[in-house]
Amino acid sequence: MGTKQSTTTRPTTPKKVCLVSGCGRPAMARGLCQACYAAARKKIAAGHETWEHLISLGLAKHAAQGRRGVFGEALARARREDDLAHGKAVKISTLR
Ligand SMILES: [Zn+2]
Repeated sequence: MGTKQSTTTRPTTPKKVCLVSGCGRPAMARGLCQACYAAARKKIAAGHETWEHLISLGLAKHAAQGRRGVFGEALARARREDDLAHGKAVKISTLR
């Protein structure tokens, strides 16, 4: 019997390369590789650089926040509903 090798082990993910020219390492965060990301964070922490500036130079990307955005929206909605329910409860309790 021939051995069938399925390609399920590794889904084809588009390889992203670090935005820093000449780096060539795979990007892991904000379009930067681990080393460049760490270096950028160090500069930013020291106050020598900002993400906005790096993004404007094309040396970084905005932090991925799509998932957080959806969660935040749901959370805000839930909170609003909770506030409404709370307001109703307060109104009812004050009426009585
Ligand atoms: Zn890099």
